Amino acid sequence: MPDVTVWKVACFLWLFDLRHEPANLKIVLITPIQLVDEPLEFNEIIAPGVLDYAADIRQVGPLPVNGVADLLIEHRSSNSHVNDIRLRAHYSSNFEILCARCVDPVAVPLEGEFDLIFRPESADADAGERSITADETEIGYYQKSGLSLEDVVREQVLLSLPSRTLCMADCKGLCPRCGQNLNQAKCSCDEAPADVRWNALAGLADKLELKH
Ligand SMILES: [Zn+2]
Ligand SMILES: [Zn+2]
Repeated sequence: MPDVTVWKVACFLWLFDLRHEPANLKIVLITPIQLVDEPLEFNEIIAPGVLDYAADIRQVGPLPVNGVADLLIEHRSSNSHVNDIRLRAHYSSNFEILCARCVDPVAVPLEGEFDLIFRPESADADAGERSITADETEIGYYQKSGLSLEDVVREQVLLSLPSRTLCMADCKGLCPRCGQNLNQAKCSCDEAPADVRWNALAGLADKLELKH
């Protein structure tokens, strides 16, 4: 019965898909209230597939991120203060980036650390023309719901990965006409169309000569 076979295959694929769902889909939100009494230490693992980096970047293994969040209270005047969050962490993972020339995946291990300060988004909204000092350009913002650890890690990974990756320094890339990966084999595009055009030009030259 072909129908039963199709159904079985569909079920298998569905179960297969479920098994490969990212194991850790929770979002870690850090809020000042959590940090009032003591700093928050965290040891999270971001599973591959949870964060969407860019079309040519893929996280291929778990990404452990360990660190601490502290509350920093900024006193702006005698009766106003701002709750900043200082986030320090270390992370590492393995990535695959497509070669900029031949689009083959290239393994890129990455390890990094950051020490950043985040201010509530609302804190500077009414500040108008408040001058920004050199130090403050390093300050990020968090939303009312809290600071998303995943968002910070994603941004730090994107900043740390090379902007252009090649599988090897002299990667020959793809043939722009047939798409052949020229590191693996030569194609014959170079010869054939060039010959045709040359023949056409040669033929035209012959005709022009006949006229004179
Ligand atoms: Zn390449
Ligand atoms: Zn070709």
